[in-house]
Amino acid sequence: MSPAAPTVPLPLVELGAPVLGEPEKAALAEVIDSGWLTMGERVRRFEREFAALHGVEDAVAVGSATAALLLSLAAHDVGPGDEVLVPSMSFVATANVVHHVGATPVFVDLEAADRPHMSLADARARVTGRTRAVIVMHYGGYAMDVPAWRAFADRHGLVLIEDAAHAAGLTGRTGVASHAAAYSFFTNKNMTTAEGGMVIVGDGERRERVRRMRSHGMTTSTLDRDRGRAVGYDVVDVGHNFRMDELRGALGLVQLARLPGWNDARRALTARYREVLAAELPGVRVPFAADHPTTAHILPVLLPPGTDRRAVMAFLREARVQSSMHYPPIHEFDVYRRAGALTLPHTEAFAAAELTLPLHPLLAPADVDRVVRTLAEALAIPREDSP
Ligand SMILES: *Cc1c(COP(=O)(O)O)cnc(C)c1O
Repeated sequence: MSPAAPTVPLPLVELGAPVLGEPEKAALAEVIDSGWLTMGERVRRFEREFAALHGVEDAVAVGSATAALLLSLAAHDVGPGDEVLVPSMSFVATANVVHHVGATPVFVDLEAADRPHMSLADARARVTGRTRAVIVMHYGGYAMDVPAWRAFADRHGLVLIEDAAHAAGLTGRTGVASHAAAYSFFTNKNMTTAEGGMVIVGDGERRERVRRMRSHGMTTSTLDRDRGRAVGYDVVDVGHNFRMDELRGALGLVQLARLPGWNDARRALTARYREVLAAELPGVRVPFAADHPTTAHILPVLLPPGTDRRAVMAFLREARVQSSMHYPPIHEFDVYRRAGALTLPHTEAFAAAELTLPLHPLLAPADVDRVVRTLAEALAIPREDSP
């Protein structure tokens, strides 16, 4: 190649990307100038505004969605000897938190190989005399039918918890019909505080218990004592340090205000993906109906049967398009396999065919077209083992 004609690499199409800028920098600088760094008035304001966006009374900010899930179980007295129904098609935190409270996760299959929501029929079949709770996960931000799960939970006397890590901003569909809902502000979620989480708890007393348990089970906070609103404290629960700090509270307030617009952008890009994929790659399917309520957290597709996914992902990477898969089934991880072999056919079939394509608010419609074009090229390559 002639040195006079250097190749210009194509811009990278990122799988996801947090949107951060001057408003976030200013909010962080303000906290530093204020001199009060840990859980204080900004965190409290963030809780109130998060609750208002979701149409509920109040919320509790914590260090992560993992902490939010753990405290949701603990504050409802789920513990040793109890079984908790969980989807295997989720991030591993959904099952780990069950272990953290001393209970046992019981993995439930999906509705179908192309519908990645936990199956109510399979959950019903796995209920025993020890079942105490069920955690449902809004895969990709696509709303579960929480009222149907609440009816199931009530019939069996179970605590219903939502893993809403993908679903911040799904007003009316999360945080209203369950006992508790946990949200994540990890860097790759729809809004971020770098690390962080929020929990919505329906019952006021349990909510205050979650609030205490995020800070050692203490009855007053450092801020209350600093401001002279409280003297001393008692400890009424064995709690944790799952607090959120003011820097994250300030970031959260800025990001929360921008969240509805970002979710709109994600939905519009998802609609474009559906349209372009249907036209150019009808063998590649997008789970859920186009009008299913969603925060459009990720863009999952199902590759045609027999596709070599590794080769497709390598081709995409070479063409500077990032991709991923959500998720390796939890019941197949070594640490969970040791509890006993289990087969969940729909979960395994979904996991084998799923590919996650780039989706974030800064993506341009032309990027969507480029991703689909690149995927079409990848799928047109014959397999090494085919004749
Ligand atoms: C990200 C995620 C979590 C964990 O959230 P953290 O805030 O990182 O603890 C839990 N469940 C699901 C489905 C997630 O995607």
